Amino acid sequence: MGEGQGGGEKMNNSRPLPLPFIPSRQGRGSFRTETNSDALPLLKVTDLVAGYQDRKIIDRISFGVPPGCFLGIIGPNGSGKTTLFRVITGFLNPWEGEVLYQGKNTARIPASDIAKEIAVMPQGMDSTFSFRVEELVAMGRFPHLGRLQKSGKRDRDVIRQVLQLTDTEDFKDKKLFELSGGERQRVFLAQALAQEPKLLLLDEPTAHLDIGHQIRILDVIKRLNRTEGMTVIIVLHDLNLASLYCDRLILLKDGFIFEEGSPSEVMTYETIEAVYETVVLVNENPVTKRPHVLLVSMEQQGR
Ligand code: ADP
Repeated sequence: MGEGQGGGEKMNNSRPLPLPFIPSRQGRGSFRTETNSDALPLLKVTDLVAGYQDRKIIDRISFGVPPGCFLGIIGPNGSGKTTLFRVITGFLNPWEGEVLYQGKNTARIPASDIAKEIAVMPQGMDSTFSFRVEELVAMGRFPHLGRLQKSGKRDRDVIRQVLQLTDTEDFKDKKLFELSGGERQRVFLAQALAQEPKLLLLDEPTAHLDIGHQIRILDVIKRLNRTEGMTVIIVLHDLNLASLYCDRLILLKDGFIFEEGSPSEVMTYETIEAVYETVVLVNENPVTKRPHVLLVSMEQQGR
């Protein structure tokens, strides 16, 4: 049975979220509702050049991400989104340039310190694990546990909450390989949220999800962004989802930044047509007042 069709699949999004999401934690108490663009960037990327073997993919990219920002990285297939994501998350070393987190080069921050602040959800996570869902989510707490320290009540509370938030509670005792692609994605998101990150990095987290789950999962992330000030950098290929959720967008083309700004600044028909090489209409979503891209087939374009 497909995602979202089974009885146990339905997300309980009518329940108000138990916010503040996590009982207060040092340095994280102040609630924020909007991006503070004047603040020192939480993450800064300067003159990044990267690629594979001798093929350059990312070509001198620089940008800053203020705390509390919900930044979307968009662009056509092969434009370098995942490569940029891999460099930012340390999976791929840059040829040139650096990635700074709170002013420090991430390559010089111990992995154990990074894991206390940054959570990553890459694409295509290994689904062959024989761990139970709850065990896997509990691993998200490891960075906060001392050596040989057992998890305590607060850890268990966080795990329970993230299972609820991602609607993975119903199958918490199942093994990962027993789940559908969409269910697994929600489990990996739960694991990332269990880390209580200040910065959450996601590469196509909605790729295997039906539209209902896309919205609910992005709603959860957005709510944590708004209420907890969790900064989000998300790679999305769906332009309308990016428009709906992101404060700022970086539009990549052939490994460089073609356009950067708010969704209204970036998602004009001229820009989208130039980058994606197809005719589009860009309307205003009547509810959100944000840009909404409408597609036109080649036949209708008269090509
Ligand atoms: P996007 O995420 O925008 O679709 P990618 O960053 O995945 O783009 O890919 C950009 C280019 O880099 C593509 O031409 C792709 O074939 C190439 N590429 C991606 N991953 C690898 C890899 N591991 N080894 C060699 N080339 C790669």
